[in-house]
Amino acid sequence: MGKSYKLTLIEGDGIGPEVSQAACRVIAAAGVLVEWEPVLLGARAQEWHGSLMPEEALASIRRNKVALKGPVTTPIGEGFPSVNVQLRKVLDLYATLRPVRNLPHVSSRYQDVDLVVVRENTEDLYAGKEHEVVPGVVESLKIITEVASTRIARFAFAYAAENGRKKVTAVHKANIMKLSDGLFLECCRRVASQHPAIEYNELIVDNTCLQLVMDPLQFDVLLMENLYGDIISDLCAGLVGGIGIVPGANIGKEGAVFEAVHGSWPAAAGQDLANPTALILSGVMMLRHLGEQDAARRIEQAVVAVLRQGVCTRDLGGSVGTKEYSGAICRELQR
Ligand code: NAD
Repeated sequence: MGKSYKLTLIEGDGIGPEVSQAACRVIAAAGVLVEWEPVLLGARAQEWHGSLMPEEALASIRRNKVALKGPVTTPIGEGFPSVNVQLRKVLDLYATLRPVRNLPHVSSRYQDVDLVVVRENTEDLYAGKEHEVVPGVVESLKIITEVASTRIARFAFAYAAENGRKKVTAVHKANIMKLSDGLFLECCRRVASQHPAIEYNELIVDNTCLQLVMDPLQFDVLLMENLYGDIISDLCAGLVGGIGIVPGANIGKEGAVFEAVHGSWPAAAGQDLANPTALILSGVMMLRHLGEQDAARRIEQAVVAVLRQGVCTRDLGGSVGTKEYSGAICRELQR
């Protein structure tokens, strides 16, 4: 009998419950024993608890240290920034990790892409410091600190070292934002000098976009501030076939929340249309974080095997629904 875990489950809104149930089924089929503690966050939490981010949900993540999270809806125009941005800030989940890789049978413009986006999560223009100076003039403050920049750079280099990655590219716009991005680069350089075995280079963010679409294979680990990371993560998902397949993790000292890149796609809720691959692969990242390397590897292999058989959801040109697809992965795991 293997170890058993108590973990927080945030099913989320829209397609969230379907993709999270699919991920939980697959994790169970891999033989990992999890007692899920379900909590609400986002629109359903607002409905049931009168708050988009109830204290109970935060307490559960703090207690269990690890959560699997479906996408949540942030209602528009209610003065609340974004549930996700807030969650990362409140729990100090300072690093987002997004591995971007091709999967078989998923058509895309490129093959053999294998890069990782490391994004700082707690500051930059997402600090939420905006105000109107005078009518018709607003200011949004870009906050960059030495502490947060050094911390994310250390995270990126440690990840590279632990995962056999060869190169870290710091993405910036220090030619224009000389102070803020300049400080970020200074911190990156300092950390890079402590990791001589890992190649380090710097690239201006616009050139990074160009280079990514011209030749994504030149990249290994991409290290960046919050806003650039948000934008470039989606661009990178597009390099390998879309947001239905790219997993992610938000990691801090006190906990980690594993979630897909995509949103809650409210129009498709309850229709068995969503591709659960991204959340299943986020579950794989979660299992690796827990030290369940064997189960993680077997799930990855099962996903690949099922895709190779041509079994996939409609967004990838297939015809099966969320349940049938995840059922096929479970059967593959139990063969
Ligand atoms: P979205 O990702 O929900 O949907 C955009 C499009 O992507 C959809 O129309 C659909 O065609 C496709 N898509 C998304 N997920 C898919 C899946 N699993 N399988 C197949 N196709 C998929 O983005 P949006 O419409 O901009 O946002 C909807 C809501 O999600 C908003 O409230 C937003 O705040 C929220 N959101 C949440 C997260 C999160 O919780 N991590 C991330 C992004 C957006």
